[in-house]
Amino acid sequence: MITLNSITKQYGALQALDAVSLTCPQGGVLALLGESGSGKSTVLRILTGLVQPNSGEAQIAGIRLTDTKPPREVLEALRLRIGYVIQEGGLFPHLTAEENVLLAARYRKLEAREMQERLQELLAMMRLSHDVLERYPGQLSGGQRQRIALMRALMLKPDVLLLDEPFSALDPLIRRDLQRDVLATIRSLGITTVLVTHDVREAQMFTTAEGDTLVVMRSGRVVQHGAFAHLAAAPKNDFVRDFLSIGTSP
Ligand code: ADP
Ligand code: MG
Repeated sequence: MITLNSITKQYGALQALDAVSLTCPQGGVLALLGESGSGKSTVLRILTGLVQPNSGEAQIAGIRLTDTKPPREVLEALRLRIGYVIQEGGLFPHLTAEENVLLAARYRKLEAREMQERLQELLAMMRLSHDVLERYPGQLSGGQRQRIALMRALMLKPDVLLLDEPFSALDPLIRRDLQRDVLATIRSLGITTVLVTHDVREAQMFTTAEGDTLVVMRSGRVVQHGAFAHLAAAPKNDFVRDFLSIGTSP
């Protein structure tokens, strides 16, 4: 379960987040939808514990986050329990795909056999062939890179997955396949997920189950949240109506 309680974040005079309150039950998906600069990534950065809010507090994976930087062991615990994937994957270019995926597991000194079993499971989930593992990120397609980044994020069986526009740099067909595979994976694992996106269809696709919430953000504020069908049928204002209709028109 994730909660944000009246989170505020300022960067100088800029109010990046203004009293953002949200909740996501265990196993649910929270899709943060909004234009560039609306504060979506800042919400994720606060949930990773790497950025502190000016006020308010958050709870994630049983850990409470406030305006004070958490001690090292808390950050370490968060790193274990949260998988984080960004738009460009964030893979280390000088490590092979396999080394990237296993990095945290090796650091935790997981048993070799356990690591290999997990690797095989994740390869199947992400529908990658084994030979991809020996390649460096620069030798992979964009879609393969994101699949490896997702494998890395899932390696230690995190409680929560934080996805920051992980599909947006991909071609439409590749993107659609990866969206389907990621959705199937998070549903089968029952993993609580926060997905940041500026794509209305994607936000809709990821929030069709009970416990999922679509959140429309603007200028650091939550404008409206709820099921897509509810927002589409009863938009709170013109902004929500226009924003949702742009992406859903044929
Ligand atoms: P989004 O992900 O919705 O595009 P962000 O959360 O990245 O938006 O950013 C929200 C606002 O906060 C933007 O105006 C951005 O420029 C600003 N911002 C984000 N991070 C920083 C930072 N480290 N320093 C200064 N301003 C920042
Ligand atoms: Mg962003």
